[in-house]
Amino acid sequence: MATQLVERSAQDRLFINGEWVDAIGGGTFETLHPANGDVLTRVAEGGAADIDVAVLAARRALNDKKWRSMDAADRASLLWRISDIMEKRADVLTRLETLDNGKPFREAQIDVRAAIDAFRYYAGWVTKMGGETIPVRGNYLNYTMREPVGVVGAIIPWNFPLLMAAWKVAPALACGNAIVLKPAEQTPLSALELAAICAEAGLPAGLLNVVTGFGETAGAALVAHRDVDKIAFTGSTAVGKIIMRSAADSLKKVSLELGGKSPNIVLADADLEAAARGAFTAIFYNSGQTCTAGSRLLVHESVKDELLAKIADRASKMQPGDPLDPKTRLGPVISQEQMERVLGYIEKGRGEGAQVLAGGGRALYNGEERGFWVQPTVFDGVKANHVIAQEEIFGPVLAAMTFSDDDEAIAIANDSIYGLAAGVWTQNVKKAHRFAKELQGGTIWVNTYHPLDAASPFGGYKQSGYGRELGEHALDLYTQIKSVWIDLN
Ligand code: NAP
Ligand code: MG
Repeated sequence: MATQLVERSAQDRLFINGEWVDAIGGGTFETLHPANGDVLTRVAEGGAADIDVAVLAARRALNDKKWRSMDAADRASLLWRISDIMEKRADVLTRLETLDNGKPFREAQIDVRAAIDAFRYYAGWVTKMGGETIPVRGNYLNYTMREPVGVVGAIIPWNFPLLMAAWKVAPALACGNAIVLKPAEQTPLSALELAAICAEAGLPAGLLNVVTGFGETAGAALVAHRDVDKIAFTGSTAVGKIIMRSAADSLKKVSLELGGKSPNIVLADADLEAAARGAFTAIFYNSGQTCTAGSRLLVHESVKDELLAKIADRASKMQPGDPLDPKTRLGPVISQEQMERVLGYIEKGRGEGAQVLAGGGRALYNGEERGFWVQPTVFDGVKANHVIAQEEIFGPVLAAMTFSDDDEAIAIANDSIYGLAAGVWTQNVKKAHRFAKELQGGTIWVNTYHPLDAASPFGGYKQSGYGRELGEHALDLYTQIKSVWIDLN
């Protein structure tokens, strides 16, 4: 299989102040194709010194008259131009994402489409972010304006690399900020391509800088930097906590999109065929490496056997395929480390007494132990206190458990440190609304799972983080409000 990289506009260097530069320390690191472990290329290993240069470039660009006084309509056009070039290069972006992350081509296409949508959605907001005039006591004119937060440090994970970059870069630019973006070490390539696209669209130098590198060095330096005003982070809950502690020193604003262990609940009256399809997609999309994955299946005891048989049947038919092949539905997991972690959880599940209905081990790729593959795995007989029911596995592993009434289902569902999303399957409209109200999560899906839209807010309850990305709510993450008083006496 060819794992040659597609022709790109980006270079494998850092993108700082509109230029491609080597890391100051001169280091580089490999990025792999997870399907076979082949090295795709080496990218620059940015560190604290590079972050320093990038933050300075961002600060200068932010203060530059060209950006500060750019008409809102022109800023909107600029964002739209970025989206147009992304669309023209959609095939390159899709292949790049498929190669670097390993996800099936068809899923990468959906990501690219959604990333374009994010730029267009926020292009629309640029000319609509007005302030208020407020009827205060006294003879004053009091009004508010939304101003940019300043220099935004964006740190993103490897599961939806381009999409997570777009969710941060698009609203941050729309609101007039400057950005330093640190992509995940496993998937740096689409962020670099996005930087090249922004430059081609005419984004002034320094407004988007991309520093590839490691979290403990480049990422930590960005969070600790005195001249960064805000950190927008998507990643694990564990790293989110480290970031919050470090950001406290300079009292940076922080928004966090973290992990999840989302319950997907099937009531006895559900359309079981639809629920089986939905539960399957909920956990196995992107090989389970989705923060909102429906990794806990709660099913009414009266329909459990029928539902699980349907899901297990689908799961055991899912076979590894070349991610670049548009027909492929199962991709690898991101890395050797992640594969071992997920296989470790499968062993733990067996040890806890849960039964494997499908999968349960490493999957072979073209008959070989190559790349990082895990069989779509379905566990029956899981108890709510099992490790595989509590911890985020972030792989293709479904933990199924039963309940006997609605109250019990809600109690089990909410018994988690996380609260990112939840699904419920029922044909009873009253029950649907009751579950939507009582489940603790930032997104509730009824008779569906996983739809997202640039216009609809997304984020977590509890230890799944805070702040809402997407929709109008994201404007609050990237602006601060100024209240102006004019004495009219
Ligand atoms: P991660 O280990 O938390 O890494 C995320 C990003 O943070 C990476 O760029 C990483 O750099 C960087 N990082 C690591 N340590 C850091 C530190 N001390 N200071 C600053 N930055 C640091 O998460 P992951 O394994 O990439 O992604 C999986 C996790 O993300 C899962 O828990 C998943 O649920 C969550 N996630 C959440 C959402 C959401 O919207 N809620 C979306 C997607 C993923 P390196 O790449 O060098 O480690
Ligand atoms: Mg890679």
